Amino acid sequence: MSSLPAWSSRTGRRLPALLLALLLGASSTAAEAATVPGAKASAPVATPDRLRYDVSLRADADGSRWTGRQRVSFRNASDRPLREVYVRLWGNGEDGCGTPGKPSPIRVSKVGGGTAGGLTVNCTALRIGLPKPLARGARTAVAFDVSVTVPARNNRFGREGAFRFLGNALPVLAVHDAKGWHLDPYVSTGESFYSLASEFRVRLDHPSALKVPATGRTWTRPGGHGRTITRSVAHRVRDFAWAAGPFRTATETSPGGVRVKSYWSPGTSAGGVRLNRRDGVAAVDRFGKEFGRYPYGEIDLVMTSGFGGGREYPGLVFLGTTEEGSAVVHEIAHQWWYGIVGNDEYASPWLDESFAQYANARFYGWDTRDCWSEDDWPSDRAALTNSMAYWAAHPGEYHLVYTAGPCALADLERTLGAGTMARLLKRYAHDHWYGVSTTADFKKAAQSVTAKDLTPFWKRHRIR
Ligand SMILES: [Zn+2]
Repeated sequence: MSSLPAWSSRTGRRLPALLLALLLGASSTAAEAATVPGAKASAPVATPDRLRYDVSLRADADGSRWTGRQRVSFRNASDRPLREVYVRLWGNGEDGCGTPGKPSPIRVSKVGGGTAGGLTVNCTALRIGLPKPLARGARTAVAFDVSVTVPARNNRFGREGAFRFLGNALPVLAVHDAKGWHLDPYVSTGESFYSLASEFRVRLDHPSALKVPATGRTWTRPGGHGRTITRSVAHRVRDFAWAAGPFRTATETSPGGVRVKSYWSPGTSAGGVRLNRRDGVAAVDRFGKEFGRYPYGEIDLVMTSGFGGGREYPGLVFLGTTEEGSAVVHEIAHQWWYGIVGNDEYASPWLDESFAQYANARFYGWDTRDCWSEDDWPSDRAALTNSMAYWAAHPGEYHLVYTAGPCALADLERTLGAGTMARLLKRYAHDHWYGVSTTADFKKAAQSVTAKDLTPFWKRHRIR
């Protein structure tokens, strides 16, 4: 997630303090026990895993309402029998359980394959009890009807004029690991999302007047009268997002072979669209070289003038775009930091936000010398590695994840040397490719590439 215009600034001795990128992200220490070599075999690993989502939705005349059926199959990776799963309805985050006249925007019904419990966590979680405990290695599936009503606000799940944004609209399964079920609350300050790499096969039936960018590789064919079927297949992604509207479009292929598809509303600055297309193509190839080749083949840039900041989803980013461009480089960096290398965004937002913003600063050649300042930190409790629970209670400090965070990583680069830092990031990405990382994992990886004791470095930079 990201915000304000300073993302493309090449000037300034320090990273712009008001940058306040409202970019989002986090990680958890939850999976640590499962990833420490020699950990007991009975330590609960992240589950349910090897998820596959099969979804078919039909839109109304303007893409405001989508209804259909969703099936999720999965395996139990844990030694412990799996007795239940939780479906996260993140699209209800802003509206909660709704009101008698205005129900929650995401509704699930006719649950099959298990028994639905009540909605919890302000109507963002639904427990489904399995008919019998699922043994380790066994697979099963649940299915349900889903109804999505796009809210009136301009947001990741919202609308702008004739354009609909469906980020976090599709229900996804929560993760269970050594910390138990991750049922963290939705926060508007940042992001709470945590999910495992999954397969998605999604069929979207919509009026032909609407273009529908979506996660994954997509293709279209004629549907019923005046309608089009957009199909998408996405491999090893953590989420699925789409948009709908009378977009203008253009497609280019990067020198590295990634298809960059641009979608913009007619009111979007033509100069901004040009900048986004240029920087988007350059960024996806550059980060592919730095962190490992972009594996999804295609990325969609969805641009409008009124969207606030940027929002990242696998293979699709929403970009509020002015004549100065957008946070396109930051959001594309998230394809690696959050997307390919996953993290619990509620537990450790810095693991995706600070890393994406560090990549952004390097892309634009920002001067990061002396940009770390102890004066930015209001108390001993404030740490770069704090969870969203802390940042949601101290929203005025959350910008530190975007401002001080990349400064800390730039200082680490100077401490290790540029070549060693580059090798560290590439190896770290490789070791957690399609998996989940934690702060402890990153610290361990960094310590492994240097003879220097990094303990004082972590302490000074509030990496705990
Ligand atoms: Zn971000």
